[in-house]
Amino acid sequence: MNLRDYIRDIPDYPKPGIMFFDITPILKSPKALQYAVDGLAERFSGCGASKIVAAEARGFLFGTPLAVKMGIGFAPVRKPGKLPYKNRSVTYDLEYGTDTLCMHEDAIDPGDKVLIIDDLLATGGTAVGMVQLVRETGADIVGSGFVVELGFLDGVKTMQNAGVEPTCLLT
Ligand code: IMP
Repeated sequence: MNLRDYIRDIPDYPKPGIMFFDITPILKSPKALQYAVDGLAERFSGCGASKIVAAEARGFLFGTPLAVKMGIGFAPVRKPGKLPYKNRSVTYDLEYGTDTLCMHEDAIDPGDKVLIIDDLLATGGTAVGMVQLVRETGADIVGSGFVVELGFLDGVKTMQNAGVEPTCLLT
């Protein structure tokens, strides 16, 4: 199975000049979705993770089934104003401006071993934001996994600079 066959390139979305990689064909295909979740599970088998952390919204689509498959918990990371209980938050730099990510303050326990998951690694800003959020809890990060990596945006290097090695199914 080549996951690239299940990613649709959308030019000029969400802005002119941007090529968006639409992963919904993976979700549409039971075989491709199973392949992606199984692929991540295989790469992280034996990593000792006790919790998956994933960012809204597309990270949830792979992070939650992976948590079920691995038999571990799931902690959602969301934009401000979306989580009902007390939040911890982190603000990180984007190419133009900043963004903020939030997590419930009790979503991760200090002894947790965290696996960070998202659908796609682009600049790495979102993933490093999650790294910062998790580190504030005192928990360890045992890995990070992505279905797709956009090589030309240096997300791998950005994650490595943050001390976390990313694993990507499609590079
Ligand atoms: P980064 O923060 O620049 O690495 O962007 C990755 C985040 O933005 C992930 O949470 C993705 O869901 C989302 N994202 C950015 N570009 C794309 C894309 O082309 N397709 C799907 N998601 C994207």
